[in-house]
Amino acid sequence: MKMERGLLRKGIGGFYYVEAADTIYEAKARGIFRKRGITPLAGDIVDISIEEDGTCTIEEICERKNSLVRPPVANLDQLFLVVSVLHPSPNLLVLDKMLAGAEEKGISPVIVFSKTDLEDCGEYLEIYQKTGIPVLTVSSVTGDGVDRVRELLQGKLSAFSGNSGVGKSSLLNRLDEQLSLPTAEISQKLGRGRHTTRQVELLKLGPDTYVADTPGFSSVDMIQTELIRKENLAHDFREFAPYLDQCRFPSCSHTKEKGCAVLAALQEGKIARSRHQSYVSMYDEIKNIKEWELK
Ligand code: GDP
Ligand code: ZN
Repeated sequence: MKMERGLLRKGIGGFYYVEAADTIYEAKARGIFRKRGITPLAGDIVDISIEEDGTCTIEEICERKNSLVRPPVANLDQLFLVVSVLHPSPNLLVLDKMLAGAEEKGISPVIVFSKTDLEDCGEYLEIYQKTGIPVLTVSSVTGDGVDRVRELLQGKLSAFSGNSGVGKSSLLNRLDEQLSLPTAEISQKLGRGRHTTRQVELLKLGPDTYVADTPGFSSVDMIQTELIRKENLAHDFREFAPYLDQCRFPSCSHTKEKGCAVLAALQEGKIARSRHQSYVSMYDEIKNIKEWELK
């Protein structure tokens, strides 16, 4: 028997596919995981044993940096939040919720404005360039901006999120012709609707470069599972950080208090109004949640 450490690329029907030492092993998980209520996830770093007869077993799951429930994936380095500038038009509150959710989980967000061949995206760039979060623009029709996405993917495990129809599959296909993921037109033919739950699979784009294939998961899935404590929320808006310890009251909620340094930065135009509006809406949604209601 020998042991290898590898990356769990996908799990399906109780079998797990683990990439280790340039090979893909088909493994089963030790019964102990089920007893402990742990499910191996795509993205997990696992130790597998390989018997003489080729039987492989996941013996150990390394501690996760982070994990998501929907889609079920572990150890994401980056989350690309894709928002189309038209068809459909951006919903900035949803985008800001996704951004805060990613920050809360310790996953670096990247904003991608897609379909830039259809509409100018200057007003959105103005808002998001102030946040310090990387902002990219792409068109899968003209190919503009696709190289920059490819650059940011290098050496990382990333996922793409965004509502159905924003152009995620088209972008992934542009990144790697070999992927040929079904885009909207084809998915409909395959009857792959919103309600089909599929396993997450890690697609390999290059050495140490993986993208989680997560069709059928809308951005809303992720938001609902990510409950944020109100005290933490301001920390999930990166551009608020320099001001948070400068408010007059230590318990400042940064929504309406006198002497609030965040509100002052907003007045000076250092923080975009729409970002602060999203913050206030989120704060109002979560402020009455009791400690025991959070997991
Ligand atoms: P997904 O649901 O996010 O994977 O979106 P798809 O990649 O399936 O794209 C949805 C629709 O938008 C399809 O009809 C695509 O042809 C179209 N589309 C995708 N990217 C672009 C783009 O950059 N420009 C334009 N004009 N249309 C696009
Ligand atoms: Zn404040």
